[in-house]
Amino acid sequence: MRTPQQLYAHERMIYHPEILTCPHCGDLLVMCNSLAWDKTVQMLDRVLSVASRPGRCPHTTCAGSRMRLLSAEGQRIAPAGSTYGYDVVVRIGWWRQESRATYDEIHPALASQIRIAASHVRSLYQTRLSAAAGVP
Ligand SMILES: [Zn+2]
Repeated sequence: MRTPQQLYAHERMIYHPEILTCPHCGDLLVMCNSLAWDKTVQMLDRVLSVASRPGRCPHTTCAGSRMRLLSAEGQRIAPAGSTYGYDVVVRIGWWRQESRATYDEIHPALASQIRIAASHVRSLYQTRLSAAAGVP
């Protein structure tokens, strides 16, 4: 899903792993130089520029050195590969399942808050929610 270019983030956040030590040897993790992901995420009330800096074990002989440990909190902002926040996904699901709203009703309501194409409303619901909930 592509985010329009002219979205200005209100906030820049870089997440770090919550755990500080290697799960294999227990030594302190070091932060990787590169980011695991770096994206602009639209939430219902704001636009965030978020990234996740992974941690790894500093010992090359340890299995933890091949792991890239990510922030759990960072993973809760938006689904992997999506530039819409989980709050947007949940809102669509609520309207579909509780209010029995159609996509044609949902899109204008959502588009008054965030920049989203009608096709994205449908695909967000179908890929993120209906599979998980087992509903059509
Ligand atoms: Zn280790």
